[in-house]
Amino acid sequence: MRKKNIEVIVLTDGSRILGLGDLGVNGIGISIGKTSLYVAAGGIKPSRVLPVVLDVGTNNLELRNNPLYLGTRKPRCDDDTFYQLMDEFMKEASTTWPQAVIQFEDFSNNHCFDMLERYQTKYRCFNDDIQGTGSVVSAGYLSALKAAGTTDVTKTRIVFFGAGSAASGVAQSIVDVVSQAYGLSKEQIKKTVYMVDSKGLVAANRGDELAPHKVQWARDDVAAEDVQKLKTLEDVVKHVKPTALIGLGATGGVFTKEIIRFINSYSDHPIIFPLSNPSSKAEVNPQNAYKWTEGKAIIASGSPFPPTNVNGKECVPSQGNNLYIFPGVGLASVIAQPDYIPQEVLVAAAECLSSLPSASDREAGLLYPPITQVRKVSAEVAAACILKLQQMGMAKNQDLPDNLPDLTKLARRRMWQPEYPDESFYLNLQLQPNEDLQSDYSHGEEYTRRQ
Ligand code: NAD
Repeated sequence: MRKKNIEVIVLTDGSRILGLGDLGVNGIGISIGKTSLYVAAGGIKPSRVLPVVLDVGTNNLELRNNPLYLGTRKPRCDDDTFYQLMDEFMKEASTTWPQAVIQFEDFSNNHCFDMLERYQTKYRCFNDDIQGTGSVVSAGYLSALKAAGTTDVTKTRIVFFGAGSAASGVAQSIVDVVSQAYGLSKEQIKKTVYMVDSKGLVAANRGDELAPHKVQWARDDVAAEDVQKLKTLEDVVKHVKPTALIGLGATGGVFTKEIIRFINSYSDHPIIFPLSNPSSKAEVNPQNAYKWTEGKAIIASGSPFPPTNVNGKECVPSQGNNLYIFPGVGLASVIAQPDYIPQEVLVAAAECLSSLPSASDREAGLLYPPITQVRKVSAEVAAACILKLQQMGMAKNQDLPDNLPDLTKLARRRMWQPEYPDESFYLNLQLQPNEDLQSDYSHGEEYTRRQ
């Protein structure tokens, strides 16, 4: 493999594959899936992506006892060993493939936040579960605020169900994106955020030791005797009277009819985002939420759901899919070659995405453009990210246009397109690599020509 070829690395340790838990080295499937999406949506050449799983053991006993398991049959290594290996990987990967961007994927909560802090400004990397999710959901939330006709955003209140990596990333991104869009301070938007975890309202005076990533979202303005009473989502909703509910707690059905009707009793257009995957874990089926609010709810889900008809109106839930964001962010990093990816780039990606739905998309209640336009979206997102890097003086590639239309054209041109072989290929069943591929696969053994 030639050194210069790799442009995107998706790295996991298989410790928390969404919805499935600790899969050990079998987590390679998520890296392969995400690199495939980089090819499909971001136009990265298939020969320039590298899926990686780090084998640091597994705490999944069933796997360790399975004779067919290919990974190390030991419990996960301790933190010192983990960070020694990670440090070495980051250094060697960035030296071996200096053009590459590294996407962290599905690392467990005890590592993903610390890893981001440790490497974010040292290497060209980002965490899709925290930052990618944050960016796509905040884009949808910004569009939802507009759709709800919100003028005074300080009067909004968001209750998050779940306070894990996705919720933390989304809350941070909402604070960044909404404060910028409405010209308010981050502190003002932060005050609109409430989080609920398995013990109730996340509050500084709850009496337990909060995980480090929850501390910054802990409320400090609720009386201790009230906090003791706010144990469930329903308790918190009744107390806070939110205008938006964001579900990232991987527990299906918790946004009940009572909760949603209650919110609709004081808010004309409740913003309801049941984002947990798969669909069985969605906090509410959007079809029900539309029915319970007479089609008034503004909905984005994590998994795809079909439209529903309420009083003759077709209600189509949007899908807050990270695919709208990470391929564009990765492509921008590959083109602009910054030393690292600052949070401002993810904010620029969210603002761009929020601006992309057409008038007819918005008319239909959509918060995102159709997913079928994902290549176009990726090019636009990439252009917005490159422009942000240029404005911050961080684009090391100086040979780039300095305006959005030309950057978008450049990103489109840069995208790899599959070339379909002619009929003789199918007739003779011979592999005929095209010129472009041939230059990539310069070592003859890397492709097979069947005679
Ligand atoms: P995580 O394990 O980091 O966090 C889950 C959180 O939910 C934890 O804070 C946990 O305490 C809380 N929780 C669990 N059960 C609860 C209960 N009964 N009551 C209250 N809180 C409870 O996982 P994550 O990476 O943050 O992902 C959470 C969910 O979000 C997953 O279902 C995932 O599929 C989904 N997700 C969706 C998108 C998207 O739609 N774009 C992106 C990322 C994650």
